[in-house]
Amino acid sequence: MTAPPRPERAHPGAPARGGKRTPQGVHTGAPECNAVIMSRSQAAPDGVDSTLTDRLLAGLPADAVVTDPDITASYAHDMASFCPSGSPAVVVLPRTVEEVQHVMRTATELRVPVVPQGARTGLSGAANASDGCIVLSLTRMNRILEINPVDRIAVVEPGVVNADLSRAVTEHGLYYPPDPSSWEMCTIGGNIGTASGGLCCVKYGVTAEYVLGLDVVLADGRLLSTGRRTAKGVAGYDLTRLFVGSEGSLGIVVRAVLALKPKPPQQLVLAAEFPSAAAACDAVCRIMAGGHVPSLLELMDRTTVKAVNDLAHMGLPETTEALLLAAFDTPDPAADLAAVGALCEAAGATEVVPADDAAESEMLLQARRLSLPALEAVRGTTMIDDVCVPRSRLGDLLDGIEQIAEKHRLTIGVCAHAGDGNTHPTVCFDAQDPDESRRARASFDEIMALGLRLGGTITGEHGVGVLKKEWLARELGPVGLEVQRAVKQTFDPLGILNPGKLF
Ligand SMILES: Cc1cc2nc3c(=O)[nH]c(=O)nc-3n(C[C@H](O)[C@H](O)[C@H](O)COP(=O)(O)OP(=O)(O)OC[C@H]3O[C@@H](n4cnc5c(N)ncnc54)[C@H](O)[C@@H]3O)c2cc1C
Repeated sequence: MTAPPRPERAHPGAPARGGKRTPQGVHTGAPECNAVIMSRSQAAPDGVDSTLTDRLLAGLPADAVVTDPDITASYAHDMASFCPSGSPAVVVLPRTVEEVQHVMRTATELRVPVVPQGARTGLSGAANASDGCIVLSLTRMNRILEINPVDRIAVVEPGVVNADLSRAVTEHGLYYPPDPSSWEMCTIGGNIGTASGGLCCVKYGVTAEYVLGLDVVLADGRLLSTGRRTAKGVAGYDLTRLFVGSEGSLGIVVRAVLALKPKPPQQLVLAAEFPSAAAACDAVCRIMAGGHVPSLLELMDRTTVKAVNDLAHMGLPETTEALLLAAFDTPDPAADLAAVGALCEAAGATEVVPADDAAESEMLLQARRLSLPALEAVRGTTMIDDVCVPRSRLGDLLDGIEQIAEKHRLTIGVCAHAGDGNTHPTVCFDAQDPDESRRARASFDEIMALGLRLGGTITGEHGVGVLKKEWLARELGPVGLEVQRAVKQTFDPLGILNPGKLF
């Protein structure tokens, strides 16, 4: 994967209206966002409230306010299927905190909803526009403000692309672990909005563990600073953590202080083939119970392996029912892999193949990262679930998913952050076929119900957005829901921040 071009462009990962998805899951055809700009003297196009644009332009440069309907429509939605989206009145692309404050003051005054957006790679509709809203795209606020090896922190603006930060800190001998598979596209603001995870979480944890402090523009335009840049700190309620995963519903993140780790040694990967998903899940349990700390532990089922081969001709073994990838970034990864390989064999692995070197390891990881785009190519559309269960129940979940697929006569491929118990059962279907679409939605819901029955959660990392809001209520229960609504009310009494999401 290559780094996307940087400032002054519509984000290359941005879904475009009428645009086409590439096999990598990226919509193409996004128009240049600053090709059409407003000036104070221009009349707003039909349907756009000129009071709103005039007020916005009073505190923003002309090229930061976009009203061309062809362009604003390209900011309507993220990458989730089955999520309704509306037509934004205007897209605003601020460069400074003061500009974001101006947008929020204007929105409060005029009671206009605001939908914050990063790169729109989200998979739950959490960044989807509502009718008449201001889309607040943070992609131009993409500066890395500080990398401090002594304090082991980075201070960044929200539009910094995850992979750009990862590469920048590497030059200082440091490591920013959260690594969603979309890391070449997604932004730190979006990662904070969804509390995103990735391949490394089994050892290093999710985004929440790396956010030390935030600057957040509140609904009325005030600037709130939360948290710290110190190694420790327990002053007051942990508002920083509250914002992580809040899906843009409590405030606009304009700056983040992120914890960094020393750069670990290069990881080595092992691939193990299993005659059944149950045997692979057994191996996961043995590895974790054995006290091992792999830097990743990923599972791809037969359907996923085949889809990746079909898409990218990776030469993965298609006779296997499940492929487990384990990696270690320890000083002696070969020894750790040997121990884990033995556990895989004890669980019934038919083949255990350690990668020879870093290049072969990276090839295996690349195959894993291609899982979701590859499954999308199977029937044209996917619904990607994100159920996370205690890892001891992973085998039951995979077994249940197979039964659900059979019952609904659908292809459901599963790739999983197996070491976390976090699965992505991906329902492949033809969106042009109403009956197949109905069965896809039903199976998607049944998988979440199964996850809850097994003591899990409806979302391990992708968030609730529009896609799962009914399910959030089920998971939280009435008291949990009431308290969460009260939190929302405190931060956003007018209900203008990303309305229609979460609840
Ligand atoms: C191919 C592919 C692979 C993926 N793999 C993973 C994975 O491994 N792990 C994972 O967790 N996710 C994964 N995702 C999902 C997605 O990439 C993540 O959810 C990511 O964090 C979204 O970042 P974004 O910049 O695209 O944010 P967006 O989708 O634009 O926004 C996400 C949410 O954050 C809010 N938001 C964005 N910026 C701000 C801000 N500055 N202030 C307040 N709120 C804000 C939005 O309102 C929205 O609610 C994948 C997606 C794709 C397409």
